[in-house]
Amino acid sequence: MSLLALPPELLVAIFECIDDPATLLPAASSCKKLHTIYDVGKHLILPRVVCNAMGGDGAFTASLLALRIDAILPDYDDLNPADVALFRADVQALKDSASTPTTAECKKCFERVRICQDLEVLYSRFRKDSSTSNVSRLTRTESSKFCVALHRIWLASLYMDSVVHDLCMEPVTRVPLLYNDYSAQDVYDIHCVLEFLGEQVGESLPNQNTPRPRGALQLECLFCGPENLLEAFLKPEKAADYLFNGDWDRPSGHPWNDDLRLVFIRLGLLNATATTLTIPTAIRPIVDPAVHLDLQQCWGCHEQAGFRLWAGNNWDRPPCDLRLETILNFLPGYLKRNAYERPLLAHYLGIEDPLGVQLPSQAPRSTMNRLTSVPHMTVARILQSLCDLPQLVNTMKQTTYVQNCPFFDITNADPLCSVCIRDLVKNRLWILWLSVKVAAAPDEEKKQDCWFGYDCRMQADNPEHAYALNHACPDTWRERNEKQSRHDPSQG
Ligand SMILES: [Zn+2]
Ligand SMILES: [Zn+2]
Repeated sequence: MSLLALPPELLVAIFECIDDPATLLPAASSCKKLHTIYDVGKHLILPRVVCNAMGGDGAFTASLLALRIDAILPDYDDLNPADVALFRADVQALKDSASTPTTAECKKCFERVRICQDLEVLYSRFRKDSSTSNVSRLTRTESSKFCVALHRIWLASLYMDSVVHDLCMEPVTRVPLLYNDYSAQDVYDIHCVLEFLGEQVGESLPNQNTPRPRGALQLECLFCGPENLLEAFLKPEKAADYLFNGDWDRPSGHPWNDDLRLVFIRLGLLNATATTLTIPTAIRPIVDPAVHLDLQQCWGCHEQAGFRLWAGNNWDRPPCDLRLETILNFLPGYLKRNAYERPLLAHYLGIEDPLGVQLPSQAPRSTMNRLTSVPHMTVARILQSLCDLPQLVNTMKQTTYVQNCPFFDITNADPLCSVCIRDLVKNRLWILWLSVKVAAAPDEEKKQDCWFGYDCRMQADNPEHAYALNHACPDTWRERNEKQSRHDPSQG
C-alpha cells in the first residue's frame, strides 16, 4: 500500500511527527495530494512540527509567550509608573490564554529553532564533548532541557527592554518577575545555560579593560538575548558590539548567584536565613559530569578539566580568544608590541595585524621580502608546529629554549585544558617565531640578544633598537648582572 493511499487524517498524523522544519516544506511540496492535505491541515501540523523541533511543549510555550510579549511591548510608556502594573497584568493574561499559535508565530519560532540548535552545538562542545563538530552530542533529555532553558532566557531578555526594566535590576524584584512560574530544577537549568553563556562571553572578550564581578557576565547574558549571543560567538572579533550595545544600565554587584539562592529559599530548599548558595543534591546539571566516568585529564596540569580539552582532533575549534588575528597577543612581554618583529610575524602568518596602525613606524630595513606568508594559515597548523618544535628548531640556542620549556615532550595526541593550551602558545610561539625568522633571513642569527629580551620596553617604542637586537629571547639582565658582580666583587 502506497503512502498516498492512506486516509487524509493519517497523512496529517504523519506530517505531525516531523521534527525538522527543513523537511516539512519539501515533504508538503512533493506532490499535489500531500500539498492539499498540508494546506488544509497546516493549522494543526505547523504547531506540532515546531513543538517537535523545539524538543517539547516547555520550549514552545516559552517561545510563544516571548513572541506575544514582544508584540505588545510598544504599548507601554516607560515614563508612566501605572504602565508597570498594566504590563504585568497583560503578561499574566497572555500566560493564561491558550490561543492556538498562528502560522506567522510558528514561522518565527522556526527561526528561533535554528539559533537554539547552533547554541546547543556550542553547549555540547563546552559541557559534554569537546570534539563535538557541527552536531550536538546531547541526549534527547539533555537537549530538551537545554532548549527549554534557552527559550526561557529569551523570554526573560525581553523584560530588560520593557517598562519593568527597573524591577530587573535587583534580585528581590527580579526573582519573582522572572522565575515564579518555574520549579527549582527549571531555574537551575536556566542557570546552567547562563553559566555556559557567561563563560563563552568571557572567552570572546579576553582583554576586558574593566573586569566584571563574578556572575555579572551571566546576568548580562540574560539580557542580551540568545540571538545576539550567537552572533557574538560566531564573530568573536565583534563580540563587544553584539553584547553591550544596549543603552540600558548594567546590573551592579554580583547578584546572579543570589537569584538562585532566593529561589531555593522560596521553594523551601534552603533555610530562610541562608546567606550563601548551596545546590541541593537532588538538583542536577543538564549534562551531569557524574555519568561520564571516562573523562580525560589535561596533559599539562593533570587537573580534571571537565569536557573542555583540546588535542589535534579538535584544534580547528580552539577557545574563542585563540584566533589567528589574536595570536600575536600570545607573544611574551613587550615582544607582542615589538615595532620590527610583530609586523614580520603578522606577515608570515598572512594576517592583517589589528595593532598595525598603533605601532610606531616600522624599522627602515626589513626581512619582510625574504619571509613569505604561509598560504591558508590556521590556528590548528600553528598548534601542530608548536608540537613539532623540537624537530623544527635549527640552532643549539633554540634547542635549549625548547628543552627548558615546560611543554618539552608534548605531542598532538596529548589533551590540554583551556589554560594549558594558551600556556603552550605563550611558551612556544616566540621560539617558533625565532626559528622561522632565522631560517628565512640568516642575518637575524648574527644579531645580539637584547639583555632584557622579550621584557625590553624599548622594543615597543624604538624601531631602530627593535631592529638592531634580537628580542625573541628571555630576559638575562639579572643573570648577566650577577655574573658580572661575581667577576668584579667591588661592584657589589
Ligand atoms: Zn591544564
Ligand atoms: Zn631591547
